[in-house]
Amino acid sequence: MTAALLGVGVCGSRPVAIGRAQLFAREPTVVTEEIDPAQIEAEVARLDAALECARHHLESVRGQIPNSTPLHIAEFIDAHLLMLTDSALVDATRDLIRERSINAGWALQIQRDTLVEVFDAMGDAYLRTRRDDVDHVVRQIQVFLSGEPSAQSVSASDLKDRVIVADDLTPADTILLRHRGICAFVIEHGGPMSHTAILARSLDIPAVLGVHNATHLLRQDELLVVNAESGTVLAGADESILAHYRKRLVSADQRRHRLRELVREPSTSRDGVPVVLLANLELPEDVDAVRSSGASGVGLYRTEFLYMNRSGLPDEEEHLETYLGVMRGLDGIPLTIRTLDLGMDKQVDGLAGSSGSLTNPALGLRAIRLCLREPGLFVPQLRAILRASAHGPVRLMLPMISAIAEVETVLGMIAETRRTLRRQGLPFDPLMPVGAMIEVPAAALCAGGIAKRVDFLSIGTNDLIQYTLAIDRVDDSVNYLYDPLHPAVLRLIRITLSRAAESRTRVSMCGEMAGDPRYTAILLGLGLREMSMQPASLLEVKEVVRSCDVGRVSNRMDQLMDRLDDLTSAQLLDAVNEVAND
Ligand code: PEP
Ligand code: MG
Repeated sequence: MTAALLGVGVCGSRPVAIGRAQLFAREPTVVTEEIDPAQIEAEVARLDAALECARHHLESVRGQIPNSTPLHIAEFIDAHLLMLTDSALVDATRDLIRERSINAGWALQIQRDTLVEVFDAMGDAYLRTRRDDVDHVVRQIQVFLSGEPSAQSVSASDLKDRVIVADDLTPADTILLRHRGICAFVIEHGGPMSHTAILARSLDIPAVLGVHNATHLLRQDELLVVNAESGTVLAGADESILAHYRKRLVSADQRRHRLRELVREPSTSRDGVPVVLLANLELPEDVDAVRSSGASGVGLYRTEFLYMNRSGLPDEEEHLETYLGVMRGLDGIPLTIRTLDLGMDKQVDGLAGSSGSLTNPALGLRAIRLCLREPGLFVPQLRAILRASAHGPVRLMLPMISAIAEVETVLGMIAETRRTLRRQGLPFDPLMPVGAMIEVPAAALCAGGIAKRVDFLSIGTNDLIQYTLAIDRVDDSVNYLYDPLHPAVLRLIRITLSRAAESRTRVSMCGEMAGDPRYTAILLGLGLREMSMQPASLLEVKEVVRSCDVGRVSNRMDQLMDRLDDLTSAQLLDAVNEVAND
């Protein structure tokens, strides 16, 4: 019998996937039990076997690191390998099993708590990082003790053509799973604007998120049909259903093939209006996808991923090297580097203020707020971006601006950084454009004042929707309220565009809305002429741009703006599409 589970679909150019389930537990279950003294040596042997598996796994991950990967990733794994033989962790755990007659998982947990307490008491930032290493390594050993597969424990070859079914994946886990031949994600938590969803889109892997109880309802190895367009997951599909979806896979392939023909075509509307299409970049390795999408530049490079899956923070030289590597890959097209947006769901081990332990991290010390609080974190990045600008077209973009004073403070810091670089004889482009993201309603309402002070604006709809509609991006229980066409969101976009036009400031949009072809005509009608998106969506958006009559959709949107409260999203789409390619 076919069973269907529902969630929220996320897809780029691949709407459907068929593959066998690979279940993942993010947090391994730790069983705590006393054992018979006669079993003690067997339990110690079980611990040793788990240690051996963890070592084997880490060595195999280390062996798969491509040469192009920055050195720190390998160093991060080496530090963990060393810890697997550290007597403070390993011998002490063996002693606990023997002294207290308890099972290995429990003993390991007790020893972990003891070590973490010691590190916490020291309160030093570097030692806090070591504390997180202990956590990573212990979790890895616990995974092998529990026998439950996880993102870390399954080898690369086992994931080919698999559908990952997990309770939750952090952005950091998603990075670990990239390029391993996975065909789809089915995740219990998260929404369409969560960073896990954004990464799935950037990898062009279909995903369905917010599928409650998926890890309990779906069985390991069962064949699943993942329909990311409708947000459904089918289990136990019969041959006729499978045949239907196989046909869809073939036609999606053919469509991708046809779209490739648009790569070299200009991004100009039917009535001759040029529209700039840019790509979003999550990881330096993805520059090839940017180039082959035909994007005319990168409108958003999310640099916070540079901080994940590692111990320690990148320094100025590492930032610079990474940016120069990306610029070489981009071959002269402009790169918009967004300064750090840590906090909320993008946490970094050992960094004060980014702990996520506060009651509402989305409203807390996130992005530019964290950077202004921690100049030691921010200034090396500012210096590296400025220094990169000496080598090619670079723009600097500030996330989460909520007040004009914040813009002025950062502009002051940038001016000071320029003076220092000049004194040190380090070259930079004195005219490097600096822009602000509009992702908080307050910023949209003050867009005129912000626009006057910067060179460009970029609307971050993922956060703008989150803050306008009061829906947490990572909370799947409010996914149903997610609506980019909500009148309040459209009005804020309109306000941003018209206020920025007064000072002739360029406006781009780099949230997920910009890459969804269903919204392209409406955005053009609102006056947007520059959009940045996942490379996998770019040609679909270009296809809409090329078939759209911008003059007519603009007139139609002008008429509809006063009536937004009386239209459903579907009615609005119909009213605009009616004239878009008439
Ligand atoms: C946004 O908020 O729309 C955005 C582009 O930034 P991020 O998704 O990284 O928060
Ligand atoms: Mg944002």
